[in-house]
Amino acid sequence: MQRRIAVIDKEKCNPIACGDFLCIRMCPLNRAGKEAIVKGPDGKAQINEDIATDACQVCVNICPFGAIHMVKLPDKLTQRPIHRFGKDSFILFNLPVPMPGKVVGILGRNGIGKSTALKILSGVLKPNLGDPEKPGDINDLIKMFKGTEMQKFLEKVKAGDIKVAYKPQAVDLIAKQAQGKVKDLLAKVDQKGKKEEIIKLLEMENILDRDVKDLSGGEMQRLAIAATYLKDANFYFFDEPASFLDITSRMKVAKLIRSLAEENNNTILVVEHDLATLDYISDELQILYGEAAVYGIVSQTKPIRRGINEYLDGFLPDDNIRFRNYKIIFNKGIEKDTKQAILFEWPELEKKFPAFHMKVNAGTIRKGDVLTITGSNGLGKTTFLKMLAGLIKPDKGILTSKVKIAYKPQDLQAESGTVKEWLDRVAKGQDSGWFKQNILEKLNLQAIINNNISMLSGGELQKVYIAITLSLKADVYAFDEPSAFIDVEDRLKIAEVIQDFMIKNETCAIVVDHDVQFLEYVGDAMLVFKGIPGKEGTVIGPLSKKDGMNEVLKMLNVTYRMDKETGRPRINKPGSQLDIEQKKTNKYYYT
Ligand code: SF4
Repeated sequence: MQRRIAVIDKEKCNPIACGDFLCIRMCPLNRAGKEAIVKGPDGKAQINEDIATDACQVCVNICPFGAIHMVKLPDKLTQRPIHRFGKDSFILFNLPVPMPGKVVGILGRNGIGKSTALKILSGVLKPNLGDPEKPGDINDLIKMFKGTEMQKFLEKVKAGDIKVAYKPQAVDLIAKQAQGKVKDLLAKVDQKGKKEEIIKLLEMENILDRDVKDLSGGEMQRLAIAATYLKDANFYFFDEPASFLDITSRMKVAKLIRSLAEENNNTILVVEHDLATLDYISDELQILYGEAAVYGIVSQTKPIRRGINEYLDGFLPDDNIRFRNYKIIFNKGIEKDTKQAILFEWPELEKKFPAFHMKVNAGTIRKGDVLTITGSNGLGKTTFLKMLAGLIKPDKGILTSKVKIAYKPQDLQAESGTVKEWLDRVAKGQDSGWFKQNILEKLNLQAIINNNISMLSGGELQKVYIAITLSLKADVYAFDEPSAFIDVEDRLKIAEVIQDFMIKNETCAIVVDHDVQFLEYVGDAMLVFKGIPGKEGTVIGPLSKKDGMNEVLKMLNVTYRMDKETGRPRINKPGSQLDIEQKKTNKYYYT
């Protein structure tokens, strides 16, 4: 029989705000004298999985915070439960298999068990094999994986021989907690004596004297990666190392992480949603699928290309499991009306600051279009937007019309109150029916509409910011790194939401991002920033997407090909036959 599980997300459960245990009071089984949902010892609702029935679902639908889940597990599930936190809590099935000397990529949606897996693999959490009444014991896990690579790894965990270095996903939180200058922090963590080397490689020379709390997202990411690399460990876990980094830095970080695997046969796990980067970094892949906050299942290990393609397909042939009822397909952009009127145009612009000088070609944006911007950080992308908005006066070039820009910043600050309260404060006068259906529902924000903003995950906060930006009245909607903390499925949804909004409202968008796949999907034209970061920037374009990507990749001396099965971009191995041929014919992006 197909197994069903019931889970209460304790972080979301708020019995005072829902009006004193609404689910307990309204549950038909409770009313009939049973105890399907009760008040738990932690003061939150507690569901009794054996009594509650999924045919009813009253509690699931009635909870204003979407805290109750009742779902069926896949009927062909062969993986074994590894850990369950409580009787009605999240369950993890199987574990990622660390492989000495290799980089294992992990691909999956947010909230389905990667931090639980990390805690078990690093010995911090003792697994209870899915029985929360039993004390956790690593020996049970060792027995379960007898005769496998995993057994060898777990024996080392037990003996205390695994030294972990962890780069967390939310690098912005490090900035809030850490104190002091970058150079002092690096000196403190440098257990390998390689700090000079890493500073040079990640181009951190000009931030060494800065306070950690003043760093930008990209600078903070490089510092977190450098600090992780410098630890004398043998198990390195990088959670979303590409966020906030420009394409150049992504490539450098990818090479650095790969070099760690070769050093002393280290074990490396990398979680990443930028598929081109994940593909380039990893040797093998394990897919993590399931339902956020309810259950997570780790698939068998696969070669990286096949693994990513199966993920996009939503079907795992080795396990005979369909985990998504649709395929993710790239290169299916909306056919745009190229005769649309120009919404605004800018002349050639120039701006000089004491230490920085930038020049931008004249350009236009049509109604309904999305202009993407890419290139290294520190070349003046924000200055360009501010010049368009009339906030910075150019030294050369007169803007005849000032445009109203709604701007989603890169750095996200959690507002006070709930998502609904924030939307009500700023989104007045919007066509609420269309907005609800095409933005809130598509981004899955209805499920968290009553949740407190301070409790949202990085990905949820990013989506709320995007919805808030689109709720403002403007001519141009500018998004700085909208893909940060967002998983593959939601990246495509965000791209579709932005495109649909611009077409319906006859406005236009500017999107700054560094995920090649996302840029390809969301954009109609591209501006490429070139130059020396922090010193001088020139801007080429607007170019077609293809010409724009060609310019960027030429700058990086990297070539991309298209995966024949899925149409996704893949980075060519430097010096490979394709790499040499594409460079010769000046086709850096696809053939
Ligand atoms: Fe209230 Fe929802 Fe918690 Fe039940 S699960 S007590 S309805 S917040």
